[in-house]
Amino acid sequence: MKRIVVIGGGSGGVMFSNRMRKEYSPDDVEIVVIERSEKHFYQPAFTLVVFGLDDPKNLIRPVKDLFFEGITLIHDEAVKIDGANNKVITGKSGELYYDYLVIATGAKLLFDETEGLQESMEADKNVFTFYNLNGAIKLRDKLKDMDGGTIVSSVCEMPIKCPAAPMKFIMMAEDTMRLKGLRNKFKFIFTTPMPAVFSREPYASKLNAIFASRGIETVANFTPSEVDHEKGVLKDFGGKEVKFDLLSITPPHGGEFVIENSENVGDAAGWVSCDKHLMVSKKFANIYGIGDAADYPTSKTASGIRKQAKVLVERLKANMKGEVSDSKYDGEIICPMLTKHKRVMFAHFNYDESISPALESYSNWILKVHMLRPLYWNLMLNGLI
Ligand SMILES: Cc1cc2nc3c(=O)[nH]c(=O)nc-3n(C[C@H](O)[C@H](O)[C@H](O)COP(=O)(O)OP(=O)(O)OC[C@H]3O[C@@H](n4cnc5c(N)ncnc54)[C@H](O)[C@@H]3O)c2cc1C
Repeated sequence: MKRIVVIGGGSGGVMFSNRMRKEYSPDDVEIVVIERSEKHFYQPAFTLVVFGLDDPKNLIRPVKDLFFEGITLIHDEAVKIDGANNKVITGKSGELYYDYLVIATGAKLLFDETEGLQESMEADKNVFTFYNLNGAIKLRDKLKDMDGGTIVSSVCEMPIKCPAAPMKFIMMAEDTMRLKGLRNKFKFIFTTPMPAVFSREPYASKLNAIFASRGIETVANFTPSEVDHEKGVLKDFGGKEVKFDLLSITPPHGGEFVIENSENVGDAAGWVSCDKHLMVSKKFANIYGIGDAADYPTSKTASGIRKQAKVLVERLKANMKGEVSDSKYDGEIICPMLTKHKRVMFAHFNYDESISPALESYSNWILKVHMLRPLYWNLMLNGLI
């Protein structure tokens, strides 16, 4: 009997494990998941919570309820991967040997990497993030109370989860104030460390046009070095300053400690180094990466993970039979961008090309706001779509 150990029971860990369970009975393949948290969050709706479009209680479920019968869930922290000896060292449960290891540890938010950011967030006054659920709730409440001022959405560094989310926030904030009749009392600014709002065409041109027509200012090539919440100033490494009354910050992201703590598994930032098509570790033939944890040069999204889970199951099945699979991950992701109330544009692309046109529509809004969450809980996590 073969044993597959999966580290992480988030979107990637669940989608992969449930799909794999459908292929093999527990008598043939043992699947063991190591997950330190008791709760699973549906992160793509954090943005919706900020604008009162979803209820936080809909976004949390116990991790243990998400896995199919026959999958062993161990609530523990994976501390180190010993790739040379095929074992994972855990915090409380000792060492776990594997035949195949799937790393699905996601991304960590690094609030302490930008000077003053942690303190500014703790002050709970004018700096918030919607990259976790508590932050999204606080930002929602703050926005509700505002009747004027400068709202800034700032990305500290790339890569981040769902790179479109900070843009969705600023476009939706602008539209919210317009609908309240307060637009002329506000200024809206988006800062990015990149040279432009978005890199992919045709979405980049469309977003530029939206920002220009709605008076959302962009400050490009801006990498925040310091947040001063008392003065309401965001500084960058080049000496530029942006003033704010409300700052929505997207903090730097990095890989998990277990990756940094393990030899030959990840890069300097803690991302798992994998072949971008074959999903296998660049150093170990029986270690795979899925989801935000991996260094795939595409957007870190649940939509991408859904595709990756299918490919990974095919590849592992072939690997276990001593065969070679021709299933490959092509980098496909679909990112729904809320551009204003009742309008969403999908950015749909893979490593090589853009797949969908840059169109805002109400049907996309219905899909994003009303359908994707139930699809996630009921179909995607169960490997049915
Ligand atoms: C604000 C926001 C908006 C987003 N919008 C969208 C969107 O519109 N569309 C979209 O498709 N995606 C979106 N995403 C991205 C999407 O949510 C993520 O890409 C996806 O959930 C990541 O799944 P994952 O399994 O890689 O990581 P996660 O779901 O974060 O899971 C990682 C798991 O690993 C566990 N873990 C980590 N280290 C260890 C360890 N050492 N030992 C044990 N357990 C460990 C963690 O506890 C966690 O449960 C958004 C994300 C955010 C934050």
